[in-house]
Formats: sequence, structure tokens, C-alpha cells
Amino acid sequence: MQVYLDNAATTKVDREVVLEMNKFMSEIYGNSSSIHSFGREALKHVDSARNSIASHFNALPSEIFFTSGGTESDNWAIKGVVNSAKQQVKHIIISKIEHPAVLETCDLLEKQGVLITRLDVDKFGMINLDELKRSINDNTLLVSIMFANNEIGTIQPIKEIGEICKKEGVLFHTDAVQAIDTQDIDVNYLNIDLMSFSSHKFYGPKGIGALYKRSGVKITPLISGGHQERGERAGTTPVELIVGMAKALDICAKNRFEINAKKIELRDNFIDKVLKNIPYTYLNGHKKKRLPGNINISFEFIEGESLLMMLDLFGIAVSSGSACASGALEASHVISALGVKEELAHSSIRFSMSKDTTIEEMNYVYEQLVIAVERLRKLSPLYIAT
Ligand SMILES: *Cc1c(COP(=O)(O)O)cnc(C)c1O
Repeated sequence: MQVYLDNAATTKVDREVVLEMNKFMSEIYGNSSSIHSFGREALKHVDSARNSIASHFNALPSEIFFTSGGTESDNWAIKGVVNSAKQQVKHIIISKIEHPAVLETCDLLEKQGVLITRLDVDKFGMINLDELKRSINDNTLLVSIMFANNEIGTIQPIKEIGEICKKEGVLFHTDAVQAIDTQDIDVNYLNIDLMSFSSHKFYGPKGIGALYKRSGVKITPLISGGHQERGERAGTTPVELIVGMAKALDICAKNRFEINAKKIELRDNFIDKVLKNIPYTYLNGHKKKRLPGNINISFEFIEGESLLMMLDLFGIAVSSGSACASGALEASHVISALGVKEELAHSSIRFSMSKDTTIEEMNYVYEQLVIAVERLRKLSPLYIAT
């Protein structure tokens, strides 16, 4: 049995999306900037994809800008706000558990003199709203807090953050890449000014995403060249990717309610079973304010990477928080920010389900997990000593 539980890393493209994209690659292949009929035909479909995508977020089509994905959108939102601001002292607020696309961008800006506040999170991965309020000052340009975390699935209080930003007169950007397929997002209700998303995290193709930018918000372009995207983002419009993304979003929205309910049931059953039956296991993240498809558990006395590799031998694809940085295993910055013991940060595994994950698959994963954990702990001197 092969089980793919790494959907937070990327998802399988929907069959309907592939069919749609094929049509555009082989039939409606014009450059949507061209004046002739091939171009006009392509443009018609780009426009309708933009309308459809905007409607899912209660945004205007003119507020949607296509990019190459989540990383570019995050870079553009943050660098764009900084570069277009005229004031001398510039201040940005983020959290410690942002995606590297936000963290590394801010590290870079900091070297160039921008002031960065990195908010702590509690043991569930939630930011503190009072700390956010206290951190905002006259120089603050932007608050960038992710909608939901890619490792532990914690969903932030986006509505409250939006209200604070609006009241204080600072821009609010959210990296919503992980939230698109399962969360209801209304950018006006939530007071979001800038929002990043990426198609390959919701059953669409890789290499396409978008930045929502509220009308009137000024950001400097990141990519210069032609006049695509109303002169704000250059580069030939990838028509097939855009229609694919729009289709994928439509499909997600259609069955959201049922799929979320199914995933939550699978998720909570799996978590309960593991925590109850496998000793020395700990849930990372929030029990309820958590993405429906996200399970993140630490297995004490085991290196996450080893467990990942053993599960891989059993045909199960998961992800571990640790990243191999220059030969040494570095604990995940997200799990570390939760304030857990260093060893536990090294022993975390993320299981991320798709809309198609079945109970049979989750049962198989649980059975193999029990075997793998037992085997690895038999090899662990720390475990034997307990
Ligand atoms: C995957 C991901 C990104 C990066 O998106 P790409 O389209 O792969 O560049 C950014 N933020 C979060 C939270 C993600 O999960």
C-alpha cells in the first residue's frame, strides 16, 4: 500500500484540472497580450479565471495579481510595501513561525535597515493579540501573520488581527497558502489588505499563485519587464496555469464542508489513537484551531528523520520538522518556537491528509507507525534507560 500524507508540501493535481489545462496547452495557446484572435481568446479565459478567483474571496478581479506562487507573493507583499514607503524608519511585525518565504525576506530587509519584530507564539502556536497591539508603533508599515501554519496547522485569529491593523492604520498581509482549500476567506470581513496563495497546495498546478492586493494599497513591483498584470507584475501570462488554478479553487469550494468534516474526523481519531496507545507521544499545535488535514506529533526518543525514512520503506510519505542543514539535523523553527524540549523538537512528524485520504489508509499508517516506533525505540539508548 502506498499512502501519501505530505499534502502540506504539495498535492496531486485534480483530473479535471489536468484536462482543462491540456485544452489550453494544445488548443487555446495564444499569448493573452496579443491583439489577434488567438490572443483575445486566451485573454477571455484569463479574465474569467480572475473573476472567478476573486469571487471566492469577496475580492474585486482588479485586486488579484497572478504570480509564480506563494514564495513570490510573500516576497512581493513585504518588499513591495517596504520599497514603496517613503518614511525613514520602517518597521514590520511578523511571527516566529512564518514560512521561510516571509522569515528570510525579513532577515534580508533587516540587514538593509528595516526594523523587524518577531512575535512569540504560545505552546499551541498562537500569537498573543496584546503583544501584537503593543508592538505596533508610528513606524510600523505592515503586519504579516500567516493564516495557518504549514507544519503544525495552527489557525491564527485572523479576524482579530485584521481589526487591530485596521484600527491602528497599518497594512495586514497574510500568507494564506495553507488555508485556501479548507477555510472560508472573505478579505473584507477579515480586513486583509494583502494575501498570498499558491495553486499546488489546493490540487492545482505548481508554479502559479496570486497576491490579493486591496485597491489603493501601494506596493512596488518585484519583477520588471512587460506590462502584464496591469503593469504590476511582468512576464508572459501562463494561461494554462491560471485556468488550472481557477478550476482547482472552484472544486475545493464546492465540497469544502463535507471534506472538512471528513478530514477532521480522520484527524482526531488518528491523534487520539496515537496519543492513547503509543507512549511518550505529544501533539504539536492546537487541538481545535487547526487545519482539518494536519496532524503533527512528537515521538520522544526517536529522531523524526529516522521515523520518516522507516515509514517511507513501508510506502508512507510524511514529513519531519527537522531539516538537514549542513550535515547536522536542525530542529524545526516552528516546533522550537512552541517552547518544547529540544529532543521533542527533533522527533516531530507531520502527517498531512488530502481530500481523498481514506480511513483504510489512516488505519494502515497507524499500524505501520506502531511497528516503526517500536523498532526505532529498541535502538534508542535513551529509551532503554527509561
Ligand atoms: C508552500 C508554502 C509557501 C510557498 O509556496 P510556493 O508556491 O511553493 O512558493 C509559502 N507559505 C506557506 C505557508 C506554504 O505552505
